[in-house]
Amino acid sequence: MQDTEAAETLLCHVARESGAQPHAVNPSVVHASTILFPTLAAFEARKSARLRYGRRGTATSFALEDAVSALEGAAGTVLAPSGASAIAAALLAFAEPGRHVLVPDNVYGPCRHGCEDLLRRFGVEVTYYDPVIGGGIAALLRPETRLIWLESPGSQTFEVQDIPAILAQTRPRGIVSVIDNTWSGGLFLKPLAMGVDISLQAATKYISGHSDLMLGTLACAATVHDRVRAHAQRLGLCVGPDDAYLALRGLRTLAVRMRQHHETGLTLAAWLAARPEVARVMHPGLPDDPGHGLWRAQFTGASGLFGFVLNPVEKPRLAAMMDGLRLFGMGSSWGGYESLLIPTNPAALRSATRWAPEGQTMRLHAGLERAEDLIADLEQGFVRLGGE
Ligand SMILES: *Cc1c(COP(=O)(O)O)cnc(C)c1O
Repeated sequence: MQDTEAAETLLCHVARESGAQPHAVNPSVVHASTILFPTLAAFEARKSARLRYGRRGTATSFALEDAVSALEGAAGTVLAPSGASAIAAALLAFAEPGRHVLVPDNVYGPCRHGCEDLLRRFGVEVTYYDPVIGGGIAALLRPETRLIWLESPGSQTFEVQDIPAILAQTRPRGIVSVIDNTWSGGLFLKPLAMGVDISLQAATKYISGHSDLMLGTLACAATVHDRVRAHAQRLGLCVGPDDAYLALRGLRTLAVRMRQHHETGLTLAAWLAARPEVARVMHPGLPDDPGHGLWRAQFTGASGLFGFVLNPVEKPRLAAMMDGLRLFGMGSSWGGYESLLIPTNPAALRSATRWAPEGQTMRLHAGLERAEDLIADLEQGFVRLGGE
């Protein structure tokens, strides 16, 4: 992993001034709908004011927007009340009847559902592509292709995409690119610097970091920022000041937390890869992972989320393993300080590629507990897995 000192320093100092409480370290939590203007002239000029109406943001949400923009190297950031609403906003901002959209086959499930439901009803054609297609994407491009979606590594199966090879085909044709950058936390991958137009995150995950809020971020290049912001306004998307504040608080420690997620995740992945109960591990930080070379070239670290496939076992044995875990929780979402382990079913969400695992596919989130304690919990679990 490369040095993240610059990011650590940035995250401690960015977006601290809100004007409202000049001596506090942090910006205020501003609850507001109506914003008052002191004069008729100021009221009539309100369209050029950043602070003009609660739905358009207050000092608290502006601070979060500015911090995410600094982290992602964006011209501006648009907030949404969840990662899923950020996805819907990005899809709809560029949807028009007759247009064509490309989506990786391992995309986050609710994004696929958004494409199937929202986009198709708007008369947009959707093609799912093999996430490791690279420059081969050229064969799928059409004159009406408007948008390409990326997610790297992809949900549940963690294939790494060749982002520069894909952009080399799509950018010259003016195709807008959106990447779901939730896995890297916006820290280990810098999509905007690579030429991606929108880096989207479920801030619910690593930015928040504490499993206590729902929030989405759309970090935008200058070329698309106005369009995305306007579209989010049409949809009425806004974020409450308490959640914005919590996300900003989480962001302050993102770099240190991610360093630990990286280390613990890799330790657990390597340990699992050596276990007889495990058929294979999907973690791009492992040297023999198919995506390792691309990951090294594009990323500066790994988060704590990865997958593995168990050798075939009976369901009651899997239940015995899972039900007795002390440190790993079973539940949706990830990116908090706590470890999680769940079974997944990637095959159900594919149409362009096949997922044919040896046994049950699993997804593990390595939290901030000590790696040795997590390994001991898993080891006990494997005893139950193999028991009578
Ligand atoms: C969780 C997740 C989302 C959606 O975020 P929510 O805040 O739960 O709506 C989007 N993309 C990825 C990759 C996710 O894991």
